[in-house]
Amino acid sequence: MKSVEPKVFLVGETRLAEEGLQAYLAHVGAPDWHSDAPSDSELLCEVMGRLCYRSFEPGLNPNVTRVREGNAPYLANIVEVGHGSVLEHGSVNFIFADVSRVVTHELVRHRTGTAISQESLRFVRLDALSAYVPMHIRESEAGMEIFARTFEQLETIQRELARLYEIDDAKNFTEKKKLTSAFRRMAPIGVATTIGWSCNFRTLRHVIEMRTDPHAEEEIRLLFGKVYQLVQERYPNLFADYQVEQVDGLPWVKTAHGKV
Ligand SMILES: Cc1cc2nc3c(=O)[nH]c(=O)nc-3n(C[C@H](O)[C@H](O)[C@H](O)COP(=O)(O)OP(=O)(O)OC[C@H]3O[C@@H](n4cnc5c(N)ncnc54)[C@H](O)[C@@H]3O)c2cc1C
Repeated sequence: MKSVEPKVFLVGETRLAEEGLQAYLAHVGAPDWHSDAPSDSELLCEVMGRLCYRSFEPGLNPNVTRVREGNAPYLANIVEVGHGSVLEHGSVNFIFADVSRVVTHELVRHRTGTAISQESLRFVRLDALSAYVPMHIRESEAGMEIFARTFEQLETIQRELARLYEIDDAKNFTEKKKLTSAFRRMAPIGVATTIGWSCNFRTLRHVIEMRTDPHAEEEIRLLFGKVYQLVQERYPNLFADYQVEQVDGLPWVKTAHGKV
C-alpha cells in the first residue's frame, strides 16, 4: 500500500476578454475606467457588480454621486451586503488527485455552481492501491498494521481476480469494463483516486467554509485547507474577510459573512 496525501492542481481559471470590456466601457461612457484587481476573476466580479448601478464613475447614473474606489473595498462591500451572485462570474477549475472515494462522495454533494468529472473505476482497473491514512490510524502502530494489512490483502484480491477472469486476455473493451466494474466492488472506499472539480467563487467560498469546519471529515478538511491557501494567494480580494484558526492541526477557514 502506498500512503498518499490529497493534491490540488489549479488547471484553469476565468480570463478577461480585454477588447470586449473596453468596448463595453466606451459604450457605457466610462472609457477610462480601470481596476486595480489582482486577477481577471476579481476584475470581472467587480465589473459585473458595477454595471448594476453604472457605478464606474459618478454621474453615469444621475442617482450616483460617488463611487467606491478600488477592487478590494468594492468586493469587501459585496461580501458585506451579501450580494453573492456577483461572485458567480469568476470560476476556477481544479484537479484533486490522490483523494479517497470518501472525499469524492462528500464533494459531489455540493451541486450548485459546480462541474465534476470523476476517474472511472469501471474503465480504470485497480491494481496497486494508494490511500490517505487518517491521523488516528497513523498515530497507532497496531491500527497502522491493520490498515496496511487490509489494503495489501485487497490489492492481492484485485490481482487474483484479474488472473482468475483472465482480464488481460479479454477480447473486447466492453467485457473488460464489466469485469473491472465487478472487481471494484471489492476495493476499499479509502482508495485514492482523481476528480476534476470546477466551481464559481460563490460556491467555492461556501464549500471552503463547510469543508474546513472542524465538524467536517479529516481528509476533506486537509484538501480544502490546501485549496484555500492556493486561492487566497491568487485571488486575495475574494477571500479577504476570512480568518484561519488551527484545529487538530488543520486550518478552519471562517468568516462573519458565511454563504453570501
Ligand atoms: C460536517 C458535515 C456533515 C455532513 N453529514 C451528512 C450526513 O450525515 N448525511 C448526509 O446525507 N449529508 C451530510 N452532509 C452533506 C450536507 O447535508 C450537504 O448535502 C452538503 O454539505 C452540500 O451542501 P449544500 O446543501 O449547502 O449544497 P450545495 O450544492 O453546496 O448548495 C449551496 C446552497 O445552494 C442552495 N441550494 C442548493 N440546492 C438547493 C435546492 N435543491 N433547493 C434549494 N436550495 C438549494 C442552498 O442554500 C445550499 O446551501 C454533511 C456535510 C457536512 C459539511
